[in-house]
Amino acid sequence: MSQPLLEIEDLKKVYTSHKGVLKRTRTDVTAVDGIGLSIKTGETLGVVGESGCGKSTLGRLITRLTEPTSGAVRFDGQSLFELNQREMKAVRRDMQMVFQDPYASLNPRQQVQSILEEPLIVHKIGSKSERKDKVAEIMKIAGFDPDLGNRYPHQFSGGQRQRIGIARALMTNPKLIIADEPVSALDVSIQAQILNLLKELQGTFSLTYLFISHDLGVVRHISDRVAVMYLGRLAELSDSESMYRNPLHPYTEALLSSVPVAEPAGRQEPIVIKGDMPNPANPPAGCAFHTRCPKVMDICKKVKPDLFPAGEGRFAACHLYA
Ligand code: SF4
Repeated sequence: MSQPLLEIEDLKKVYTSHKGVLKRTRTDVTAVDGIGLSIKTGETLGVVGESGCGKSTLGRLITRLTEPTSGAVRFDGQSLFELNQREMKAVRRDMQMVFQDPYASLNPRQQVQSILEEPLIVHKIGSKSERKDKVAEIMKIAGFDPDLGNRYPHQFSGGQRQRIGIARALMTNPKLIIADEPVSALDVSIQAQILNLLKELQGTFSLTYLFISHDLGVVRHISDRVAVMYLGRLAELSDSESMYRNPLHPYTEALLSSVPVAEPAGRQEPIVIKGDMPNPANPPAGCAFHTRCPKVMDICKKVKPDLFPAGEGRFAACHLYA
């Protein structure tokens, strides 16, 4: 691993809606609230958190499928928010996404060979015969007989369709793949196959991954480091091994305590997080987690904690580490 491939600085996304007869009642919802992190070449960063924590918005902001409110993203030395549409299209060749629902993201009326060839046509890569060869090569790498290229998405199983989604992402030889809940819709046994395929491909193609999931157990299998998000902000950023062994943030601790383990005899009782995630349109003052935190202190209700360094390259947004 070396230089950061992706650097995110104080990234923010606020959605504004207007209600009422005269549309004078304004509501702001901050989906992503000042995220800053970087990902090194060849690294896998897992981004984890409950539904609505802003992790998918983060992925969409990086690729500019959603435009940010403020902040900066540098990818391979380029400031993405300063690029025009044509320049951004060129960057997307190096930055691909894999989505949760492969069926929804694959055109049901297109044969698989045409689905896979499309990114090459969009980015004007190769002659017709070169594109055909590339489709066959990537199909083999994704575990398919190239002769199946004339089939349609519905003729494949859920796991196979996700492998087609991954194959499509590989067609342009990207540097970064942003995978948004790529195994959430799959059976547990198939999840393991897809995670193993992603790991293999990372070695073969020197890929860097941003792996978004609500499932800490899944993130653990694939990530070098993990960013835990809560209400649009980072709660903890740690290397994967240390975080699973010794979580810093009370929210991470509670999430981890409910992940199934192979040897339940040695584990502690699950920590129950009280209540639901607060309404992002009206977040609590101070630490956003204070309404649910078992370790809440007076300061937590008034002062928003910074992301404090906690040693060994780890960070926690919690007053316990101030
Ligand atoms: Fe809990 Fe306070 Fe830390 Fe927030 S800052 S996680 S409320 S201890």
